[in-house]
Amino acid sequence: MHSVTRVFLPDVNRVMTEEKEQPDEPLQPDEVRIVTRFLGICGSDLHVLKGHHPVGKPPIVPGHEIAAVVSETGADVTHLRPGDNVVVDPIMPCLDCPACRSGRFNLCFPPRVAGFRIPGFARSSMVVPARNLHKAPPELPMKVLAFAEPVACAHHCVTRLPESQRDRVLVIGAGTIGLSIIQALRIVGAREIAVVEPDERKRALALKLGAQRVVAPGKLAEDESFSGVIDVVAAPATIMEACLKVEPGGTVVCMGVPRGNCEIPLAHMQRFERSLVSSGMYVPEDFEAAISWLSQGLFDTRDLITDIFPVSQAPQAFERAQTPTSIKVLIEFGR
Ligand SMILES: [Zn+2]
Ligand SMILES: [Zn+2]
Repeated sequence: MHSVTRVFLPDVNRVMTEEKEQPDEPLQPDEVRIVTRFLGICGSDLHVLKGHHPVGKPPIVPGHEIAAVVSETGADVTHLRPGDNVVVDPIMPCLDCPACRSGRFNLCFPPRVAGFRIPGFARSSMVVPARNLHKAPPELPMKVLAFAEPVACAHHCVTRLPESQRDRVLVIGAGTIGLSIIQALRIVGAREIAVVEPDERKRALALKLGAQRVVAPGKLAEDESFSGVIDVVAAPATIMEACLKVEPGGTVVCMGVPRGNCEIPLAHMQRFERSLVSSGMYVPEDFEAAISWLSQGLFDTRDLITDIFPVSQAPQAFERAQTPTSIKVLIEFGR
């Protein structure tokens, strides 16, 4: 069978889509062919497109956040059928290294993540390993399912905080991921969520989505401290503030992607056993939790998905994703 696939082939600062007619590659027994419905644009996709990402450089097909429908399954695939709605984990692990053998596929090295070192999901159909697919209930809207990847990031991040320290948490930065982490903390039962964020509109959203208190940077009282601090920005000033605001025995999670080395107040950390851990991507269980939260309506995407563009307007979608008033911009395929 031949099919026409629309593929994103971006150049630096330019988003192009191209229609390619090609024979459908035959499936391996453990593979699945899927048809994309929605693609989410992530900040890291923008870095890739602009040539600023440390590993993903154009020309590469970007994209790692999609909701798709199964169209064909390989001979050995038993848990999926044509017509199933799925979200795709973009981590393609070796399955053989010590990290993979312990189930921590996000730590597989060297990493193979779709949209960065290997071609991404910004295409209308593709073949992926069955193990990367997570099935969603049919009643969960596809545009909501397209948000499962950021939710998986947030779920993983929150699980990096020891359970006893998810009680009074400070979140630094309320962009897409920060706002998702605030909801994740609310869902796991945090009693007090405080947020530091410079943008007034995002502060208001943080309150709406579960924070009890929001402040502009530099406005926390000198002597305040929290059982856990999540730094979604990871700039030198925010990681310093995170370390100084965590109470004795507490944990700082570095969730943002630092641009370079940052200074850590090590004496302050060491004497009272404050820990600094990091959160990088997710494991399959985080996708299962994300789908469950979205399906139960616990995690609300209504204020987070700000725009949906048809695939014919993909360049405009990427433009919009770079404006500060957008949160998550989706591209709808087949429209
Ligand atoms: Zn992303
Ligand atoms: Zn591995």
